[in-house]
Amino acid sequence: MRLFFASWPPAGVASALSAWAQAARRDCGGRATRPDRIHLTLAFLGDADPDEARATAAAVRLPGCAFAIEQARYWVHNRIVWVGPAETPAELSALAEVLGEERGFAAHVTLLRKARPAALPPVPALEWPVPEFVLVGSRLSAEGPSYEVLGRYALG
Ligand code: ATP
Ligand code: MG
Repeated sequence: MRLFFASWPPAGVASALSAWAQAARRDCGGRATRPDRIHLTLAFLGDADPDEARATAAAVRLPGCAFAIEQARYWVHNRIVWVGPAETPAELSALAEVLGEERGFAAHVTLLRKARPAALPPVPALEWPVPEFVLVGSRLSAEGPSYEVLGRYALG
């Protein structure tokens, strides 16, 4: 099981982003993220100890925050289309860092995988609140990958 910390959006944000992903897919192809799986990864821990991850999460003392969806981009190195803020807010970087993200954190929400580069539709103006974060286990099974929420942590 691979572990990661993430922020899940409110249902309205997820459905607006899912609709945008379907529109982008007409030109970029690829596979759109299911609406219930749309998330912002804060820290990818991989094959880590869940108890250690829970202890890290429980010790976090940071305020809630929010970010705006302001841009859509294509990353050629992994062929994903993502949306996110124009600049990663400092509060989110601080949260990612305390949760163990070791590489430079760039806030991005993956909406298409295995996509081709193409012109992207304008992104809808959306505010994504981050009042809490979750610890998620990702499992690959015969039916495909599945996510399981292992813990939910409120921000101050
Ligand atoms: P799949 O890989 O089957 O398409 P997924 O990417 O949703 O599914 P995981 O690969 O378990 O599931 O990844 C969980 C989250 O962690 C995703 O947001 C993914 O982008 C991110 N992630 C995965 N691998 C890494 C990595 N090596 N570094 C940083 N983030 C990663
Ligand atoms: Mg993956």
